[in-house]
Order: sequence, then structure tokens, then C-alpha cells
Amino acid sequence: MATKSKKKSAAKKAKKQNVYFFGGKKSDGDGSQKSLLGGKGANLAEMCNIGLPVPAGMTITTEVCTHYYANKQTYPKTLDAEIKANIVKIEKAMGKKFGDLENPLLLSVRSGARESMPGMMDTILNLGINDTVVEALAEKTGNAKFAWDSYRRFLQMYGSVVMEVEAEAGEHHDPYEVILDKAKAKAKVDDDSGLSAEELQWVVAEFKKLIKKRSGNDFPEDPMDQLYGAVNAVFNSWENDRARVYRAKYGIPAEWGTAVNVQAMVFGNTGKESGTGVAFTRDPATGDNVFYGEYLIDAQGEDVVAGVRTPKQIAKMAKDLPKSHEELLKVREILEKHFRDVQDVEFTIEAGKLWMLQTRNGKRTGFAAVNIAIDMVREKLISKEEAILRIPADDLSHLLSPIFSAAEEKKAKKIGAGLPAGPGAACGQIYFTAEASVAAAAKGQSVILVRQATSPEDLRGMIAAEGILTTEGGASSHAALVARQMGKVCVCGAHGMKIDYSKKTLTGEGITLKEGDFISINGFVGNVYKGELKPSPSQVIQGLLENKAAAKKSDTYKKFIELMEWADKHRKLGVRTNSDTPEQVRNAIKFGAEGIGLTRSEHMFFEGNRIDAVREMILADDDDGRAKALKKIKAFQKKDFIGIFESLEGRPATIRLLDPPLHEFIGTMDSKQIAELSKKIGMSSPAIKKRIHSLHEENPMLGHRGCRLGVSYPPITAAQVEAILEAAAEVQAKGTKVLPEIMVPLVAYAKELEHQKQVIDEAAEGVRAKYDLKKSELKYTVGTMIEIPRAALTAEAVAEHAEFFSFGTNDLTQTCLGLSRDDSSSFLPEYQDAEIMANNPFASLDQTGVGALVEAGTKGGRKAKKNLKIGICGEHGGDPDSVKFFHRTGLNYVSCSPFRIPVAKLAAAQAALEEKGMARGEVS
Ligand code: ADP
Ligand code: MG
Ligand code: MG
Repeated sequence: MATKSKKKSAAKKAKKQNVYFFGGKKSDGDGSQKSLLGGKGANLAEMCNIGLPVPAGMTITTEVCTHYYANKQTYPKTLDAEIKANIVKIEKAMGKKFGDLENPLLLSVRSGARESMPGMMDTILNLGINDTVVEALAEKTGNAKFAWDSYRRFLQMYGSVVMEVEAEAGEHHDPYEVILDKAKAKAKVDDDSGLSAEELQWVVAEFKKLIKKRSGNDFPEDPMDQLYGAVNAVFNSWENDRARVYRAKYGIPAEWGTAVNVQAMVFGNTGKESGTGVAFTRDPATGDNVFYGEYLIDAQGEDVVAGVRTPKQIAKMAKDLPKSHEELLKVREILEKHFRDVQDVEFTIEAGKLWMLQTRNGKRTGFAAVNIAIDMVREKLISKEEAILRIPADDLSHLLSPIFSAAEEKKAKKIGAGLPAGPGAACGQIYFTAEASVAAAAKGQSVILVRQATSPEDLRGMIAAEGILTTEGGASSHAALVARQMGKVCVCGAHGMKIDYSKKTLTGEGITLKEGDFISINGFVGNVYKGELKPSPSQVIQGLLENKAAAKKSDTYKKFIELMEWADKHRKLGVRTNSDTPEQVRNAIKFGAEGIGLTRSEHMFFEGNRIDAVREMILADDDDGRAKALKKIKAFQKKDFIGIFESLEGRPATIRLLDPPLHEFIGTMDSKQIAELSKKIGMSSPAIKKRIHSLHEENPMLGHRGCRLGVSYPPITAAQVEAILEAAAEVQAKGTKVLPEIMVPLVAYAKELEHQKQVIDEAAEGVRAKYDLKKSELKYTVGTMIEIPRAALTAEAVAEHAEFFSFGTNDLTQTCLGLSRDDSSSFLPEYQDAEIMANNPFASLDQTGVGALVEAGTKGGRKAKKNLKIGICGEHGGDPDSVKFFHRTGLNYVSCSPFRIPVAKLAAAQAALEEKGMARGEVS
């Protein structure tokens, strides 16, 4: 039996397919097999299957990569035969032969993991060429220049990537480029494509010498040796430093492995009827439904993105290569219909024939994400649910960022224009290097980073800057790419402008600006202006908060509203606001808040001379003195609560009783202020100083604050309750429904809440008597903020006295981690770098740690009271990942600042859909 089953599994193993063919109209694999074939390989197969023109090829699976590492860097036994069999298939499909001296087939070797991964091996093109094949190629095509150009490209790539002959430490220029530059200088041309066959032949000879000298080896002439060398290099690159660092950062498991795609070459470098390009099926910056991209005539591979030559915008192809352009437009339509998302494609045209080389879902800005998702629903390409899932919730904040008003722009002096690569408006002082930008931003300046072109070394500067301006490069330049991903305002390729790095100046339209001068850039249209333009609120803000008719007619506003309607329909979590003033409340309601989740009553104390009444209360050394001061405070608070209740128009309001340490109100007073206060409240300066001293705490965050104050001084609680309920009684008497929810802060023991609830109920009784109201005529609830681990862990007992819970996740994070929010910013970045923490736990909930307390608190609370209403009112209520966690934990609502409400709503809708098993639209 045992031997039999062993045999069986061995047979199964032998049958395991290691290599998948693609080409013609039928491939071995398809687009669903990204984990086996990698993203690139799976989509190449898929494109073949839907009839698009793809050069035939094969994908060596990711499982081979896994096998390679699990077996001391060796391959499955059958691999060699499978590769050879597939080469025959490719030869048949393309009508050429690998290594042939009549009609040679050349190959590209490309890495391709499940997700596109920087750090992996660069693509090798034109593999299979050597001293004899190059002659055959020249003869067959009648184009010697093309043949030698392909050869020199191959040597350059194979030499650097496989044989590792690259710029050495301390060598500033790429040694291959040095040779090319020499050839160009000799030939007096400034473009690679200007070199003749003879000149390229010289380059090839020099490349070979370089490779031999530096590596000690001749480069392999045998095509099959070349192929194995390249395949090996791809698998080895899976474990190189760059790839490892990237995997660690993005949590990609090493077991995924990479696939290798070996594909027949098609040539964009055979002359004026050929070319290569990249395109998006829609504008990835704005989301406009226009074909967007760029191309180069007579070029190959990554020439378009490398920035050696300036590519042309895709619309121009209609004139240069009309037939291929038309075909490409058809492909655009087919791809979008099939993949139902924006595609980012790579293509090559060989002597008038279009070939597709890659497609994947396109990365996009927040604006584009919203625009595209909603357009696609209108086009009936995707469902509303899919649209909701496709928009990263955080990106909605881009739609709320300021813009320039048309009037401001009209008045301004325009000094240049480029491609609108990152929508939005930014103004700031110009700096020409990343270091200078970082330094200026650290000083609090708004910075516009100005570069001819950006590179990965500029990343820190780009992060520090409000906006990015480049004078070179196009839609697929580094600057455009990064701006799209980071949501930065960006204008790129402002060709009319000149930078002088040594003088630190930027010139456009005859105006020269120096480092530190102000400019303004409009990333919606690509305009650059001298000086500081005043930004105005976004169209969404103008429409929602200012009720402006013109803004309401804008596309952005309409789409925003529509999206919010869809989100509202699907979400189960309520969304409330953290607001302290009537105006904030009114704004929050316009954003869709369903009530207040947190009003911090003490925030009202800092206004005007109210603070003196508070100080008087704190400093009072007997009950009478305190009562006198409390009376004043109560009057202020009552007025505020009336305003808040009126603004809420019947929505509920969770009001938290006084929380901060008393010391906060008096600890900062100087002698002069003390003297003034002394006169006002009739207490001597020395007496005040003594009291301040006695109230001083070493660790106020863990000191006499929250309900501990109310327990020590019940009249403080009572006065606040009276202010709340008297306001409630008066507002409801005028016909507006009022739903006060009184929240006791910083409870650790059930007894604390029990104590405070009694004080609250007694005070309420007094208010009812005063207004002659029955119990049912003045309603309120009492609950607590869960922000001390002990309360979460003993939630069942705490809930006995609570009608609601609200997790105060700011303090709960501090107390759970023993980490001060105000003091941790100096070392948190190091913790994130060392990957001890994935995120800042004050911005995104620590779901495993603090989250466990939230779960325990929810479970305990509902054990005591099945339908206990539970919300959260920390900063985390506006963070998408945290919002989803709260949904999964079964909370009733989240509460966040007014401007985060749309983000919270969208995240809540996504959480509800994800619960139904719908996956987030994959954007790779
Ligand atoms: P990346 O993942 O960095 O985009 P690719 O494997 O897509 O790398 O290769 C980069 C470029 O090389 C492609 O955009 C294309 O221009 C060129 N290329 C790859 N394979 C072929 C091929 N079979 N024929 C012609 N050009 C190719
Ligand atoms: Mg690349
Ligand atoms: Mg590519």
C-alpha cells in the first residue's frame, strides 16, 4: 500500500506543470492565476485568451522559484525539457528559430511576482543574439543598424544584470553609458538612435571588452546558455537585498516567489514605422475618460521611461502611426470591458504591427479613483458596491483639499505650464534639492520642490514638499508616478522653464525666481504662477459648507455626494462627530454626522475670561467658595449647550464631564497673572502660589483627573449636569428634541461610575423639580468612556451602571501601551523603522493589543446588557483600517472630527461589504 501511494504521488509530482505557454488565442494559464504565474504572466495569458496580439512566450511558475530555494538552488528535473518544448512552441507561433542563422528568434526574460515589486531583476531584452546571429538578423531584416542596436542593448543588459558588470563604488557614470557617449560624440549626434550600424558595431566591441575585463569572463555566445543565465538571475534576484527590504516593508512572504516570463521579442527599434510606449486607459491623475500615455518612435524597452529621449503624448500617434493608433484605441476598449478597471499597458509597434506586452490595474490619485469608479458605474461597467470597494477611503480627503479660485488665477502672473500630474493647488517657497526642502519644511515653511526630474533619492524631499514641479519628463516620469501615489500636487515637464542648479534659480516667461521665492502650482491644469496665490476651499467644501451654487454644479461635488449616498446605503456603523462648538456641529452635520460622539466640556473653558472662573473654582479652599465659582461656570456651559443642542436638531449628543488635570488650568500662570487673579477673586498671591504648588503633579496624565475629580468634588459633576439638563429643558421647551448622553470619563472601577451616576441622577432630580418636569419629560442617559484597561477588563460590572460605552481610544492606547502620546513622537519613527510597530498606534488602532481591550470591553458590556450601545470617540474613528476593525467588533458607531466623516463613512461601507465576502478591488 505504502509503496503504491508513494508511486502515485511521485507520478503526480512528475506531472506538475512548471512552465505555462502563452500565445496565439489559447494559453495554458489565465488571469486568475496570479499566485502561480505572477501578475505579469497571468495577464499576458489573459490578453492572449481574449484575442489581443501578444508575442508568444512561456511563464516559469513561482513554484519553481520556491522549489529552487527549498532544494539548494536546484530546479525540478523536468524543467529543462519543459523549457525546450515551450521554445519550440514559441518558435512555431512566431515563425522564427532560437539561435537560427536564417530567421533568428530573440527573447525577452522578465521577472514577475504576484505583485509588481521594485528591487527585482531588470528585464533582459534581445536574448539569443551573438556574433553570428547579429549578422543573420541584419541580413534577414535588411536593417544592419537595427541588428547592431539590438546587440548592444543585449550586452548592456546582460552584462550588468547577469554578469554584474556595473558602475563600481566611487564610479559616477555607468560604464556602458560612457562608451555610448563616446560613440555619440564621435558621430556628433546626441541621440542613441542617431548612431549608424558601423558605430554601433564599435560600441558592441567595446562593451565586450568591458565585460571581459571587469568580470574575467567572456559573455556566453550560446543562446541556450544565455537563457539559463538569465532565468537563474531572475530567481536569484528574489533574494537580493533590495527585494528583501521591499518584502519586509510590505509584508510579502518569501514563499510567494517570482515567476519568470520568457517571451518572443518584438522590435520597436526597426525604424520610423516602429516604436514603443506606455499608456493608461484613462487619465490616472484626474480620472478623465481619455486615453493617456506616451511613446517613442524607433525605440525599445524602457527608453520611454528612462528619460534619455523625450517621449510624445499618445494623441500624436494618430498622425505618426495612424493605423496602430486606431488599433490601440480598440485594445483600450477591449481591455477596460474585460478587466473592468483602468489598465496600465505597455506596447510595442514593430513595422506597423501592434503588440501588447503588459497590462495591469493602473495606480491612480484620489481624484481619479473617485472619478473613475463613479464613471464606471454610470457606464454599467461595475456595480455600486464595487465602486465603493475600489476607492481607498483615505483618498477622499484629497477631494476636500483647497484649490485656487478662478479669480485669483486670472490675476496671477503665469510663468510656465506642464503636465497636470497631481491634482490640487499648492503654493510655497521653492527649493532645488531634497535636502534643502526637508530643512525648510522642518522650519515650518511650505515648500515646492523644483527639479529638472526627480529620482528615488529625492523621495524625502518630495514627502516634505507641498508640491512638486519638474521641467523635464512626462506622464510616466518618476515625479508623476510618485505624486500619483502620494497624492501630492504636481506639475511635471514644464518644458518652457529653466533651472540653474548652481545659481539656484528658476526661470519662466522672462521671470527669474531664486531659492526661497514663492510660486503657486495648479495640479489640475498644470499651470505655474509667480508668488503666493490664496487658496480657497475645495468644491466639495464650498458646496457642502458654504452652499455655493456654482460649486454644487461641479462634477467633483456631484460625484462626492453620489458616493456618500451609496456609502450610507451600505454601512451599518453609525458615524458621529467629535465637536465642541455649535459651528463645528453644524459643519459636521453637513458632512453627514448623525450626532455628537464626543463633546469635551472643558474645551469651552479656555475662551475669554471664563478661565478665571475655573481658576477660582480650583483655588477655592472651601465648599462655599467653590459653589460661588461653579455658579459662574455653569452659566457659561449652559449657554454653550443650548447652542449645541439647537444645532443638533434632535440628534443625540454625548457630553463628557470635565476630564483634564486641574493643574492644567493653573500651572502655566506667571507672577503677573497670579497678581491679577488675586485682585479678581480676593485671594492673596502667596496663598494662590501655595495652592498651585500643592496641586502640582509629577505625572498629571495618571493623576487627579477624569471621574476622580468628580469623586473628590461631587459639586463639579453636579454643576455640569445642571448646565446640560437645564439647557436640554429649555431647548426642548421650544420644540427641538434633545438627547443628552452624559459620559463619565476615566472610569477604572465600576464603583466610580456608580458613585458618579448617583450624583448625576440627584442633580437631574433637582433640574426636573426646577422646571416642573416628570421623569419621562426630561430624558438623558448615563454612560462611560472606556479608556482604562481595568474598565475594559471588568466591563461586565461597569456596564451594570452604564447605558452606553464609548471607547476613548486615545487614552486607552496610552494606558494599554504605557506610552504617552505627547512624548512618544521622538522615538516612534525608530520603532516603525525597526518594524516593532507597523503604524503609529495613535493614528491607526493597535488592533492586536488595544483592539483586544476593545473586544473584551464590548463582550463584557453586552454580557451585562445585550443591547448596550457602544461607540468609539478617539482619533481612530477617522482612520479607515480602525473603522473596519470597529465594524467587525460590532460597535454601533464611530465618532471623528468633521472633516474625517466622509472617510469614516466610506470605510464603514467597505467594512460592511467585505463582511459579505466582497473583496476590495485589487489595484496592483
Ligand atoms: P517592468 O516590470 O519593469 O515593467 P517589463 O518586464 O515589463 O519590466 O519590461 C520592460 C520593458 O521591456 C517593456 O515595457 C517593454 O518595452 C520591453 N519588453 C519586454 N518584453 C518585451 C518583448 N517581448 N518584446 C519587446 N519589448 C519587450
Ligand atoms: Mg523595469
Ligand atoms: Mg512592464
